[in-house]
Amino acid sequence: MKQKHEEVMELARRRGFIWPSFEIYGGVSGFYDFGPLGAIMKNKIIQKWREFYVVGEGFFEIDSPTITPEEVLRASGHVDHFVDAMVECQKCGEAFKVTDLAREQTGKYIEGAPKEEMEEFIKKNKMRCLECGGELGKVFDFNAMFRTAIGPGNKRVGYLRPETAQGIFIDFKRLQRHARGKLPFGVVQIGKGYRNEISPRQGIIRLREFTMAEAEVFFDPEDQHHPKFSEMAGEQLRLWLAKDQEKDDKKLTEVIVEQAVKRGLVCNELMAYYLGFTKRFLLELGIPGAAIRFREQTSGQRAHYSKETWDAEVLTERFGWVEIAGIAYRTDYDLSRHAKFSKEDLTIFSGGKKVLCHVVEPSYGIDRPFYCTLEHSYVPEGKRKYLRLKKWLAPITVGVFPLLNRDGMPEKALDVHKSLRSKGFMTEYDDAGSIGRRYARADEIGTPYCVTVDHQTLEDGTVTIRNRDTAAQVRVTLAELPRILHSVICEEAQFESVGKPVKE
Ligand code: AMP
Repeated sequence: MKQKHEEVMELARRRGFIWPSFEIYGGVSGFYDFGPLGAIMKNKIIQKWREFYVVGEGFFEIDSPTITPEEVLRASGHVDHFVDAMVECQKCGEAFKVTDLAREQTGKYIEGAPKEEMEEFIKKNKMRCLECGGELGKVFDFNAMFRTAIGPGNKRVGYLRPETAQGIFIDFKRLQRHARGKLPFGVVQIGKGYRNEISPRQGIIRLREFTMAEAEVFFDPEDQHHPKFSEMAGEQLRLWLAKDQEKDDKKLTEVIVEQAVKRGLVCNELMAYYLGFTKRFLLELGIPGAAIRFREQTSGQRAHYSKETWDAEVLTERFGWVEIAGIAYRTDYDLSRHAKFSKEDLTIFSGGKKVLCHVVEPSYGIDRPFYCTLEHSYVPEGKRKYLRLKKWLAPITVGVFPLLNRDGMPEKALDVHKSLRSKGFMTEYDDAGSIGRRYARADEIGTPYCVTVDHQTLEDGTVTIRNRDTAAQVRVTLAELPRILHSVICEEAQFESVGKPVKE
């Protein structure tokens, strides 16, 4: 049997969700294009993220350059610390990221271990080159940032940003004025991040250019309370604690958000709130709760700026648990470093005193949840294989078909298609092949509803609507079609009750 991952990727390529970049030139690993359907779906995920963080949390959104001058990334610590441990095959020269290779060959996380320990680990576990089986050499640091020159010559060094967060910290003075010094306040940025991954071999999971959505929540370290904490207090979390990972214990701790703080498992209310919030976001995408966990990074695994970090992970068939978002307590690291390097005062006056804000950062990639959503929506039901995407997330919301290609049905169906589009529905007209094949094609890309124009339409102005998940059909009038589609797509109306049932 083909693996689910292969089937999903085959569908994704064939139907225009994603495909490898630069394909006609042989491709370059670590880069993916979003095709016509994928681009719509990716934008919907971004828009949903905005609904959560900008609309829901009231955070400000900014948009800053992706090219960043060296001094910024020197201050942020990236020039010195944004490194991956790398090892090369002695025989064929192939390079590997040590931590990825270790996880692949032994299932162990060795992030943060000193180089000598990594070399010891490679020896002890008899790790070899994945390409030729050759022996691996010494471990050394590789800075994962793409370097460039700003302007002609090499006068001014720049880097493609490895995270969007720095753009927010740099703008802090203006942003706090925008927030009128009221704490806590949050700022988000959505855009490309670049990391020169050593040897990405996990398709869309490990990219060299990917979309990030990051929120920086600024707060007074003496008040780590989230104003809406009570709304999140009862949300259930599954935690894989650092102390259990250190004992090689796979045990997960089930706890509600409130208890996670009370028991000291998560360091403050803000962190715990955003763990719950991230879970809600992933559920909204259609990822089942059973496939979501939060892994606490051990002290060796944490980034240079972090005091406590939780990775939101989603279980996938091919790649195991995949990190989708990191929720990090960055303390005052970034603001104090930028204050020192820029010689600007980045404290603010809030609540009658001078405050150097601390930061909690929920940082998401968009490409990984995109893939995980496809995989978790894929339903291989015998011969019928389709995407059970959430209705809001399907790239095409309504398929419009003529039952037959004659008797004026195509013309009428085209009218319906155009009229629904003019009302904002993302419809697709299809008249190729049998009606059964058209339904199958629409199901395959997750289209939740299909409208069919048949003989009866021409007589009494009614059409059928078919439900992707049940294949049930109802008949409704054309006059009511937009309202009814809106009610089933956006208002969770009961499909069977919105029209006259059609007997097969
Ligand atoms: P990090 O700053 O490393 O915690 O990354 C934040 C998020 O960006 C991760 O949770 C991933 O979703 C995403 N991400 C990081 N590196 C990559 C990559 N190489 N390819 C795709 N997504 C990534």
